[in-house]
Amino acid sequence: MTETRHTRLLIIGSGPAGYTAGVYGSRAMLEPILVQGIQPGGQLTITTEVENWPGIAEVQGPDLMIDMEAHAKAAGTEVIADHISSLDLSKRPFTAVGDTGTTYTADSVILATGAQAKWLGMESEEKFKGFGVSACATCDGFFYRGDDVVVIGGGNTAVEEALFLTKFANKVTLIHRRDELRAEKILQDRLMKNPKIEPLWFHQLDEVLGDEDPLSVTGVRVKNVKTDEMQEIPCKGVFVAIGHAPSNELVKDTLETHMGGYVVTAPDSTATSIPGVFAAGDITDHIYRQAVTSAGMGCMAALEVERFLSEED
Ligand SMILES: Cc1cc2nc3c(=O)[nH]c(=O)nc-3n(C[C@H](O)[C@H](O)[C@H](O)COP(=O)(O)OP(=O)(O)OC[C@H]3O[C@@H](n4cnc5c(N)ncnc54)[C@H](O)[C@@H]3O)c2cc1C
Repeated sequence: MTETRHTRLLIIGSGPAGYTAGVYGSRAMLEPILVQGIQPGGQLTITTEVENWPGIAEVQGPDLMIDMEAHAKAAGTEVIADHISSLDLSKRPFTAVGDTGTTYTADSVILATGAQAKWLGMESEEKFKGFGVSACATCDGFFYRGDDVVVIGGGNTAVEEALFLTKFANKVTLIHRRDELRAEKILQDRLMKNPKIEPLWFHQLDEVLGDEDPLSVTGVRVKNVKTDEMQEIPCKGVFVAIGHAPSNELVKDTLETHMGGYVVTAPDSTATSIPGVFAAGDITDHIYRQAVTSAGMGCMAALEVERFLSEED
């Protein structure tokens, strides 16, 4: 059934940024509508332990997101299972259309559509995601104290992840298809000088190897791209570091973006290039990409919406 819903505040996305915006938007009496998208709970629903959410020493990612949803609902946010397929920001009220056929009109929008880590798309990578395969050294590096790990990639992300992992790991093997890195020179220099990092040039990941019970990584099989020769490298962790892509499909032609598609916000603010449209979380953040920073931006966005609408009133 098609229907039109109007709201003071439409929040698009149900990760830490979206749910936090819901809590703050509700407490500002804006009666927000939050549309969850095809990944209710966002990126943390595809991981296991989260050990850096303040106040909880260890929590499963999916459980944390269930609690955040419950908190947003309890505060008064209407959480809707729908996915926005188009967003018209050319005039107010802004108009969003969902896959369910519902049209949402809104006086303000918080865009919290997040980002997705890029993956290689291999079966074994998928199988061990969260059980030794990760795309986030800041999140998961801590679990590999004293272990050997490998990092896949050759750009800034890969080099930064490899350097970060040396704080914990015994040895970091950087696996790259070429014999030169795309990363900035200063990062390359740091990488080459670090005795814990060993680059393996002209190789690509062929398969992640591991045990079934418990599900865990024991190594990787890599292929020499010049000779097709295979070799196995024992390791406990595999960090796929081939970049991130912001989920900007709805706004890439309407909002100002930079650094590969991240939405630009004003300094110390979540305001975008269109008044009344705010962006929070990984969609705007190419640097930190953490749950707590996303939640912080969700809070900022809701407070800014409240100020924006009250000034208009
Ligand atoms: C494997 C993994 C492990 C991680 N571990 C940690 C960790 O331990 N600690 C930590 O702090 N961070 C961790 N992170 C990073 C953290 O998950 C992200 O920084 C955080 O989730 C970003 O929050 P967000 O609210 O910006 O968006 P996301 O969590 O990316 O959520 C985006 C939301 O937008 C919705 N959406 C997208 N498009 C649409 C649309 N068109 N219509 C409606 N909704 C839409 C999606 O359905 C989703 O709900 C991890 C990330 C990954 C991938």
